[in-house]
Amino acid sequence: MNRNTNFDRLPDRYLFKEIAVRAAAYTKQHPEHQLLRMGVGDVSLPLPGVIIDAMHQAVDELAHAETFRGYGPEEGYEWLRQAVIDNEYTPRGIDLDIEEVFISEGAGSDLGNLSELFLSHNTVAILDPSYPAYMDSSMMAGREVISLPCTIANGFIPELPKQKADIIYLCLPNNPTGTVLNRAELQRWVDYANVNKSIIIFDAAYEAYISEEDVPHSIYELEGAKQVAIEVRSFSKSAGFTAVRCGYTIVPKQTGLQAMWMRRQCTKYNGTSYVAQRAALATYTPEGKQGIEANLMYYKQTAQMIADGLRALGYDVFGGKNAPYIWCRVPQGYDSWSFFDHLLHTCQIVCTPGVGFGDAGQGFVRFSAFSNRKEVEEALKRMKTLA
Ligand code: PLP
Repeated sequence: MNRNTNFDRLPDRYLFKEIAVRAAAYTKQHPEHQLLRMGVGDVSLPLPGVIIDAMHQAVDELAHAETFRGYGPEEGYEWLRQAVIDNEYTPRGIDLDIEEVFISEGAGSDLGNLSELFLSHNTVAILDPSYPAYMDSSMMAGREVISLPCTIANGFIPELPKQKADIIYLCLPNNPTGTVLNRAELQRWVDYANVNKSIIIFDAAYEAYISEEDVPHSIYELEGAKQVAIEVRSFSKSAGFTAVRCGYTIVPKQTGLQAMWMRRQCTKYNGTSYVAQRAALATYTPEGKQGIEANLMYYKQTAQMIADGLRALGYDVFGGKNAPYIWCRVPQGYDSWSFFDHLLHTCQIVCTPGVGFGDAGQGFVRFSAFSNRKEVEEALKRMKTLA
């Protein structure tokens, strides 16, 4: 046996595991203190009733011989794939074939698994900082990574790769910086991919948080994107499905990869849970849409509150406008982890160290709008004592 030594290139601990370990160690030392969790990228509001009802109903169907179901289609039920097209793409003037829509158990696994479609010598361009899954899965596959720094100097807008990148992960709105690209900026990436015969894996997990005009919600709004882009989406952050687990991935036939992905899924993925797919369908009912919109509004207001609060305390703050994340520069004399530890030990606040998202994240921390409102208020109050 020769183990995959590419794993040795990964940091010992996954970012969020390391945070959990440090927070737990603090709690063990100071059980009298309650931590204010401002770092988590996990939703906190309960699901709208209509989605819960849909899941109950789906469970009941499984209890009776006449309505029982076993394995579903690997690519997802047609009723959900059609609902995705009708609700997410047709209204934006995007024409998709139902065979191009693949229901998933969420974006996380597809973002890594899609790399199986490409030979290992393909180079990968990744925004720095970004969600760790792109870098980690590229490392595991032994690929050469081209880092695309997103810094204050370039307004967190990445420059096109100087060398040829075969695979490009774009996450827009970006986690953790909250950056978006406008139509013209994103078109440059699509054009680059067409010229260089690259593939863009477009992670639109936070699409529902876009609030500015002229920011594309789907990469397929752009000319030539169907030839070069796979779009990965999730109900996790748009509809609060982090526990339910459901998302979808669009693999256009023009990429030449749709049949390969179908083949891969048939071998390695036996389909998304029926209950989860029924829940996802319920997000498109009028009550579902209303409930989700109310939750999104709540998170967006929390984001505003955190951004305003930190600014008032004198911090340099970015993001928060089109994403549930606030990207905050740490005060002079600190780096990401030392400021994380400082906040933990002096204010009992848990944030996310920016360097965990890539080297260019050094000197930043991320705050999350999924945090509890009361805890946010308390955290901002405690941070005043630091200022
Ligand atoms: N993509 C981004 C940018 C994320 O931040 C996350 C989760 O935090 C995911 C994908 C994964 O989402 P899920 O697997 O829950 O759909």
